[in-house]
Amino acid sequence: VSHRAALDEATLIRRYFDRPRTPAGSGVRLGIGDDAAIMRLPPGWDLVAASDMLVEGVHFPRGTPAAALGHRVLAVNLSDLAAMGAEPLWATLQISLPRPRAAWLRDFSRGLRSLASRTDVTLVGGDTVAGPLTLGVTLLGRVRPGRAVRRTGARPGDALFVTGTPGDAVAGRLLARGRTASARRLRQRFLYPEPRLATGRALVGIATAMLDVSDGLHDDVTKLLAASGCGADLEVEQLPLSADLRRHATLRRARQLALTGGDDYELLFTVPAARVSRLGRVARLGGCNLTRLGTVTARRGARWHLDGLPFRFRDTTFRHFG
Ligand code: ADP
Ligand code: MG
Repeated sequence: VSHRAALDEATLIRRYFDRPRTPAGSGVRLGIGDDAAIMRLPPGWDLVAASDMLVEGVHFPRGTPAAALGHRVLAVNLSDLAAMGAEPLWATLQISLPRPRAAWLRDFSRGLRSLASRTDVTLVGGDTVAGPLTLGVTLLGRVRPGRAVRRTGARPGDALFVTGTPGDAVAGRLLARGRTASARRLRQRFLYPEPRLATGRALVGIATAMLDVSDGLHDDVTKLLAASGCGADLEVEQLPLSADLRRHATLRRARQLALTGGDDYELLFTVPAARVSRLGRVARLGGCNLTRLGTVTARRGARWHLDGLPFRFRDTTFRHFG
């Protein structure tokens, strides 16, 4: 509930967020407009929930295009569901907005809606208040009981893989004013991260552990291994660096960005050796490259090597609480 809005709250919600009809087959019994929404899962599914917030000046710079924010606030949550191997269904949207501006709201809701319709997500409610620019989505989805891919299942001998080309997003953020085609493409990778939903779902029954890379590859590898009680030997040579990233960074710098950059929203996962041959099909279904970075070990810790020697890099990962 907002207390002082130039554009009154009911009008704002109706104009920018409420759809005239709820899509058939979405499972929504009651959508936007009442005190709460009602949804129904078919029998034989578990409910999955994820929430991620974006705060101006912390998660995105002031002046980030509204359409990119609409995309991003949903994309980061979709990425969390992808990393469970889950299927997204419904979202609620929380917005704190200094002052409701029509152009901003139109672009924001377009960015959000275009990704939502592409991923079959129905917006079922939310809250709108006046305050510093802060955005949040709670995303609900479904998974077959016992089939979700957790962070805890990696075992010694598993191969560790990553999707796509980590490092692009942080390069795009740093190249905010670059005018070349490659700088634009990298900026697009930062502003419009593509959640790896199809890859995540295709990995159900194959991956033993998975998470999405939001903080940076090195940090997130370490998290996955710690959750699984293992370690890994990893090869820096194997890091999949995009041609666009290499155009703007030396090899050493590109590796540094790939390891510590963050905002990639790629998937990191482990697969037992006997199932590695099934990844060709996963790559086709997901439409993105899968790259093997190394092997899980019983000995704890993430050990990065270059040409057989320990690889030293400056850990510049951004952390919210030290
Ligand atoms: P209440 O006063 O009961 O909290 P609100 O006025 O906050 O109700 O919201 C009215 C309806 O609009 C509710 O169904 C709510 O879920 C929905 N809603 C509010 N803000 C948003 C938003 N930003 N996006 C989508 N739905 C919203
Ligand atoms: Mg409310």
